[in-house]
Amino acid sequence: MNNRVLVTGGAGYIGSHTTVELINAGYEVIVVDNLSNSDRSSLEGIRKITGVEPKFIEADCCDKEAMRKVFQEHEFNSVIHFAAYKAVGESVAEPAKYYRNNILSFVTILELMTEFGRKNVLFSSSATVYGDADVLPVTEHTPRKPATSPYGNTKQMAEDILRDMVAANQNLAGIALRYFNPIGAHPSALIGELPRGVPNNLVPYITQTAAGIRECLSIFGDDYDTPDGSCLRDYIDVVDLARAHVVAVERMVSGGSKQRYEIFNIGTGRPVSVFELVRGFEQANDLKLNYKVAPRRAGDVTAVWADTTLANQELGWRAERELLDTLRAAWEWEKHVRQ
Ligand code: NAD
Ligand code: UDP
Repeated sequence: MNNRVLVTGGAGYIGSHTTVELINAGYEVIVVDNLSNSDRSSLEGIRKITGVEPKFIEADCCDKEAMRKVFQEHEFNSVIHFAAYKAVGESVAEPAKYYRNNILSFVTILELMTEFGRKNVLFSSSATVYGDADVLPVTEHTPRKPATSPYGNTKQMAEDILRDMVAANQNLAGIALRYFNPIGAHPSALIGELPRGVPNNLVPYITQTAAGIRECLSIFGDDYDTPDGSCLRDYIDVVDLARAHVVAVERMVSGGSKQRYEIFNIGTGRPVSVFELVRGFEQANDLKLNYKVAPRRAGDVTAVWADTTLANQELGWRAERELLDTLRAAWEWEKHVRQ
């Protein structure tokens, strides 16, 4: 039971990479996904990489009866909850869709964990909870800023729901991982991110521009108060991020958590500008990217990067992959998708 993990949203970008790392670490994985933002090709990729086909159940985490059946039929002590919508702009246009999916799915999972006496839950939070932080880098004690989008609000609300559920249930332990900017793909190029439509995020936009699908990358702002005028972010390789989930599950399973509810920043600790990232992509892949400077994008913060001391010390985890290797993997994945 302790070596079995339910992964919701496991067919998605971060979920599929985490499933690979869990399988590699000896866990048996049950994936639940409604395929609203993914498809079965990621499960095939997982099988090719690991030689193991995880159990897959196509279901909506908001559907309590369907999820109750999953809990009834499978013994597992740990849940990693990735299932959520994640498009910031769409969440502004359709807030109810985001509150319904992101909050209801999580509450449903937490209620069933309580009902079935399941112990450990890991939640996908985000650096977005820090907003425009007054002091950088941000630690887990840096105060959260009011969310600037319904998506960001669902992350803050879900963190608080987890804290309250753990406080009320002695048998439950929870960890929220606050991801910084996940990028890249598995080095095998068999799984990666599959953005639908025009990408909002920087790296998929870069790879699609390099592939000729987008004409030109717009760099949103070169007049920020940063060394080169473009925004600073903490770009974390998705495989490093996936490994963080494995050590966090191990911490809960082994009872090593100091408190029953914990929060960890998962980033590299290193700020990288948009210009640096673009240059890095060109260098890593020996190509030239078509880009122009465009006006600032509404809602972007100037800079945010992680203080990762807590994750380093308590989880024994640190980011290992070099940025150029990550950007090489991102390009290999884009080429694989276009084949
Ligand atoms: P993703 O869209 O690739 O994966 C999410 C998966 O969940 C998809 O496969 C989707 O089909 C599934 N899903 C959505 N709602 C569902 C539901 N109700 N029931 C069952 N399945 C459902 O996104 P991702 O980038 O892998 O993100 C995973 C998690 O990490 C999300 O919670 C996201 O908010 C969070 N996060 C992502 C980033 C990022 O930049 N990618 C940053 C911080 C936090
Ligand atoms: N960005 C950009 N052009 C794009 C997409 C993003 O210049 O087409 C910049 C954006 O302004 C931010 C950084 O890249 O400074 C990372 O943006 P992304 O949307 O990937 O992540 P965010 O930090 O906003 O969650």
